[in-house]
Amino acid sequence: MPTITSTRELLDRAIAGGRLSFEEGMRLYQEADQEELIAAADAIRQRRRPDGVVTYLVDRNINYSNICIIDCGFCAFYRKPASPEAYLLTHEEIGRKVEELQAWGGSRVLLQGGVNPYLKLDYYTGLLRYLKEHYPDIALDAFSPVEVWNIARIEKRPLAEVLHALHEAGMDGLPGGGAEILDNRTRNRIAPHKGTWESWIEAERLAQREGMTTSATMVFGFGEELEERVLSLTRLRDLQDESLAYNGNGFTSFICWSYQPDNTAMGGDRASGDEYLRMVAFARLMLDNFTNISASWPSQGPALAGRALHAGANDFGSTMMEENVVSAAGADVGTCMTVEQIQENIRAEGFRPAKRDSDYHILELFD
Ligand code: SF4
Repeated sequence: MPTITSTRELLDRAIAGGRLSFEEGMRLYQEADQEELIAAADAIRQRRRPDGVVTYLVDRNINYSNICIIDCGFCAFYRKPASPEAYLLTHEEIGRKVEELQAWGGSRVLLQGGVNPYLKLDYYTGLLRYLKEHYPDIALDAFSPVEVWNIARIEKRPLAEVLHALHEAGMDGLPGGGAEILDNRTRNRIAPHKGTWESWIEAERLAQREGMTTSATMVFGFGEELEERVLSLTRLRDLQDESLAYNGNGFTSFICWSYQPDNTAMGGDRASGDEYLRMVAFARLMLDNFTNISASWPSQGPALAGRALHAGANDFGSTMMEENVVSAAGADVGTCMTVEQIQENIRAEGFRPAKRDSDYHILELFD
């Protein structure tokens, strides 16, 4: 008689650092008790971070433009190029925002825009050079897979060459925005022009080979099949294995949040807090080769993000300072937290706050 592994045995294997297969992950998500799943993820966090430290980043999100032609059904942020509300900030306007971040003790900007059909590679390299020349100490994590693929298409050049040119101009990292669900069934339904899951993975793979900082994201709650959520995680895990073996430069972290439906063409419901915590814990169990899992306060709110620190997360995300994408879709939690508020939230959950940089090096540890 073949023995059937219990969910308890699967959780214990994950706690010990073992790997769960796709089928085992499906079973755990469907059958495991919520408290046991969360406790197992917490045990992994404790193994990974036995010092009880929870990190955060002082950064600023800069939406340098809201022009986009991709029409994602869940996006309330973008404007078509001809819209009277379309904008593209000047270098100087962006520079002033970076100066405000510096005054706040920040170390990184997240430059996010949309897919602009008119901007060529030299616009992006010019912006990066300007910022590196004026603010050399600020890390520039910029754009996203769909944006860099757009540049490669406009230039008719291989993506690897475009990423190399951006890196040379000062781009330190390619954030993992736009992953949503890494399966084409849901992608074709919610954002048919945004590229396949394979194109997202390929952009991150090339950025990792180029030596850039990368992070993995996931947005869930679009009505996707559970199988697609599990596939998203195993596809991230596969790339992490590959990149760590290639040059040791894999994703720094994983962060997930639930779809925010307000003001979007797609509408729909918001996932519950319990479902969010289950996803965070489940990701911690499946992503055995990721060191850091971040909680997401901009979408879920500080209280739920605090609870995620007991469900596998060891990072509280970043200050953002300005966040226009999730807030446009109705995440009613404010678009900025001060350093003091972040530290208070971390302490309230019983952890020690530590300021980190974009690569998760600890810059300052607090009591
Ligand atoms: S999510 Fe990004 S790619 Fe999609 S419409 Fe919004 S700005 Fe454009």
